[in-house]
Amino acid sequence: MLWDQKVRYATLSDIGLRRRNNQDSFCVQMCSEQEIWDKFGHIFIVADGMGGHAVGELASKMAVDTIPLTFFKSRAELLPVALKEAVEHANGAIYKRGSENRDFNRMGTTCVVLVLSPKGALFAHVGDSRAYRVRADRIEQLTFDHSLQWELERQGRLKKNDVFLSEVKHVITRSLGPEPAVEVELDGPFPVLPNDRFLLCSDGLTGNISDAEIGMIVRELPPDEAARLLVNMANLRGGSDNTTVIIVQAGELTGCNPDEERPAPKRRSRGLSLLWFFLAFACVGGGAALYYEGFAALAFGAFVGGILLLVIALLSLRSKPEAPEDDEEDATVDHRPYRIASARPTKEFMSNLAQIELELRKMANEENWTIDWATHGKIIVAAKAALDRRVASLAMSELGKAIDLLMTGFHGHRKKLKHRREAGEAVDGDSSGG
Ligand code: CA
Repeated sequence: MLWDQKVRYATLSDIGLRRRNNQDSFCVQMCSEQEIWDKFGHIFIVADGMGGHAVGELASKMAVDTIPLTFFKSRAELLPVALKEAVEHANGAIYKRGSENRDFNRMGTTCVVLVLSPKGALFAHVGDSRAYRVRADRIEQLTFDHSLQWELERQGRLKKNDVFLSEVKHVITRSLGPEPAVEVELDGPFPVLPNDRFLLCSDGLTGNISDAEIGMIVRELPPDEAARLLVNMANLRGGSDNTTVIIVQAGELTGCNPDEERPAPKRRSRGLSLLWFFLAFACVGGGAALYYEGFAALAFGAFVGGILLLVIALLSLRSKPEAPEDDEEDATVDHRPYRIASARPTKEFMSNLAQIELELRKMANEENWTIDWATHGKIIVAAKAALDRRVASLAMSELGKAIDLLMTGFHGHRKKLKHRREAGEAVDGDSSGG
């Protein structure tokens, strides 16, 4: 990955519909100078705190504050070492704070970190906050969930349909803070190609949205629109948890060969083979002429030369393309996507989005949410046209905008009901969803 590659990113953290506070934290620190980039790279972090009241919030906040601070000061020679030490340092700081105050005892947080640097994409994580990569038409989970479910599945002690599954789903086996030492898992560095998209997220997103759905949204939409649609979807499916997402898109290479990061296998020039053939036939032709002129010895020499050139020509045609030196896949230290799904938009998903929009619109009308209907109308016309033309990215973008507009109205309506309730007014029904 090169300094010239402009990185686009979006961040969004949402409290959800059921929680009293948002215990997730996130942080992005982009290098302002190439010198820092060369040495460290851009850093992106999502942390999901746990513990009662403000405790989880404090733990996740401490993680996203401490990790970059330590990382950019590191004197470690190797980037993975610097990153690992930074996460371990955050663990120590959270543990110390937890043991100083009884109210903060055993506070903890997950964390997932992405460092984008000249070496590629490097990840560190503890807990079940995840990192995904969306490349071409697939989404890959690059991190292993430190959860009881995943650990038991790895040991073959849990099957996909186990009744026990719902019990262990949200139990995490590793986090920052509760213990003085923690095992930090590193993945990568993975090579970065232009247009690769990375997603870091808390389990509020992955609890209710499938990998394939996440893949389609991240693949088709610009990072900011994708982040909004993902959070809206999480809330539409219950919003039972806080949801935090960071989407990072690696830019195209301006003024450079876009394939520079992954050199195409070099083929030997066919022109060279043709030249050998031409010379071979020239020798044979020359030999024939010499033979008729009576120069038998010279003709024999020309024939032998012609045959040799013919052999060279045939061999040069058959030669295999050279293997690219230092192939990028080989450079991958630890390439192991844990789960893979297709990120190609499906008809079902598109009609599902259209259905969601329609139902929201119905509710908005029935409950009189405050909506900018003129803007909404224009968006819907554009969405319908895109659906008719089967342009998935445009249709998804317009439907995403319409859903966002309606969800903004929904949140406003919810807030209004809450204020009325707090003021002691009776509120008809409970349409707020919680
Ligand atoms: Ca969570």
